[in-house]
Amino acid sequence: MKEIKNPKRPLVYYSVIVLLVIIAFNLIAVPAMANAQVKEVDYGTFMSMTDKGDIGKVQVESNQIIFTDKANQNFYKTGVMYDPDLVARLHDAGATFSSEIVEQTSPLLSFFLTWILPILVFVWIGDIMSKKMMKGGPNSLAFNMGGSSAKVYVKSADGIKFDDVAGEEEAKENLSEIVEYLHDPERYREIGANMPKGVLLVGPPGTGKTMLAKAVAGEANVPFFSMSGSEFVEMFVGMGASKVRDLFKQAKEKAPCIVFIDEIDAIGKKRQGNMYGNDEREQTLNQLLTEMDGFEGNNGVIILAATNQPESLDPALTRPGRFDRRVPVELPDLKGREDILKVHARKIRLADNVDFNKIARMASGASGAELANIVNEAALRAVRNNRKIVEEADLEESIEIVIAGYQKKNAILTDHEKHIVAYHEIGHALVAAKQTNSAPVQKITIVPRTSGALGYTMQVDEGNHYLMTREEIENKIATLTGGRAAEELAFNSVTTGASNDIEQATKLARAMVTRYGMSDEFDMVALETVTNQYLGGDTSLACSADTQREIDRKVVELVKTQHDKAIKILTENRAKLDELAKYLYEKETITGEEFMKVLED
Ligand code: ADP
Ligand code: ZN
Repeated sequence: MKEIKNPKRPLVYYSVIVLLVIIAFNLIAVPAMANAQVKEVDYGTFMSMTDKGDIGKVQVESNQIIFTDKANQNFYKTGVMYDPDLVARLHDAGATFSSEIVEQTSPLLSFFLTWILPILVFVWIGDIMSKKMMKGGPNSLAFNMGGSSAKVYVKSADGIKFDDVAGEEEAKENLSEIVEYLHDPERYREIGANMPKGVLLVGPPGTGKTMLAKAVAGEANVPFFSMSGSEFVEMFVGMGASKVRDLFKQAKEKAPCIVFIDEIDAIGKKRQGNMYGNDEREQTLNQLLTEMDGFEGNNGVIILAATNQPESLDPALTRPGRFDRRVPVELPDLKGREDILKVHARKIRLADNVDFNKIARMASGASGAELANIVNEAALRAVRNNRKIVEEADLEESIEIVIAGYQKKNAILTDHEKHIVAYHEIGHALVAAKQTNSAPVQKITIVPRTSGALGYTMQVDEGNHYLMTREEIENKIATLTGGRAAEELAFNSVTTGASNDIEQATKLARAMVTRYGMSDEFDMVALETVTNQYLGGDTSLACSADTQREIDRKVVELVKTQHDKAIKILTENRAKLDELAKYLYEKETITGEEFMKVLED
């Protein structure tokens, strides 16, 4: 952090300090010294000394009487009492006496003391504190009240384009509409189309969310304003809100433009109803919501925000008209990792026989930031070894270094785990495809997802209909058990990877018995009612303990039948299972069509 040079400042501050010292001395030290030599006596002593004529000078003040003895050697003081003829007695005693003249402080001085001085003191303390708090360079001075504190990036400053962000094709496709809009907001305005005001970039750290936001600004050639949610939380109450207000004021002036809020979860966490809530965060969040509601959808300001914990966000933020569009920015797959390595390899001098595919394969589970780090570590290693060129071995070596750093975070799968997950996912897909003779609708992947699932296969298209037949539900249960069934066949052992499948399959089977009337035993008797349809759909049982036992038995039977069916399907197609699992293991992500092509070969 650089100190801001300002030659005028020290002078002002030193004078303030000197002034403070003088005033303190006057207010505290001088009276104390004076008091030290004055002996306090009771009023009776004062009266008798007066009556005896043993008194010299007398000064009557509003709250005390200060007097001396005849020889003016000792000073005394006593409290003031109601004594109407004191003056007469003092006169008789021949004392020199006077009453205090209440000093009228000069209006200028009192104005200085009550107004100017405190303000100077506050500014001075504030400056010291803000210097301590200053983290992000001179622009983030906390006491820069109402002043510009959002960092402005223009194209020339960063110049990041979509090309620099590798392997996030879906996210880029999603965001390119916004680029189009920023290019020509008028076109959208004319037709009456509203761009979303806010877009939430959701994904693990280091996957390029910040880069993507910058790239949108870079592609559209518009200013880029950014701030980080965590910057707010450390500040005084009210500062965050004023920063948000300021940011939007600037943005509206510079529209069309991009406003990027990193780590939005830091301010946008679900609000708790307790009284110990973080006032600062709430004020900031409320200000953000107010700003978002305040501007028209078409004024050319697009707010991008990044988070890696979308589920913790306050629902108020994700309501329509706010951050109502969500763009997943997931960990890169094999191809993505290869591309990211290539992008970063452009910046270093590399031997030409480097096999990027091999390196990418070795770094499965790594994020973009980690891959960038791997390339950099490799370059450092080359320098350490006095080489002018980075070799494949450097890259391989640095994977170990970087991976050792993040393996603890379990972001990465071991090779064996990758095999298991590949079989598991193909198991789901194969059971689904064989039952309905159609392709899986979504991609099949073994790249860990934000949701925590190791991979996913969403079944064959069910046409999104509202009614499901008994057979369809049974098929769905079979598909859910297909993952585990494939593991059993291929490895003759089972893993914890199927926990979510088990939960879903059980739920379905249970609903068949208790709610859909799909078992012969219970016919059309409602055994369970949904009590809380909008909040998770809790159910409550409405039957005897004996019936409950019967239900449980029936649920187990239903799931077991489907599980056996899945095993049968996979056993019959064992060769395809192996082939597809190997294919997925190698490619990490495959589409439904690719799956069908291999299956039907
Ligand atoms: P996030 O905002 O998701 O945490 P960043 O955008 O800050 O991640 O990425 C950090 C760094 O990692 C970037 O500066 C870049 O060097 C590298 N990086 C991350 N993702 C990618 C990517 N998809 N392509 C190229 N580089 C990437
Ligand atoms: Zn599964």
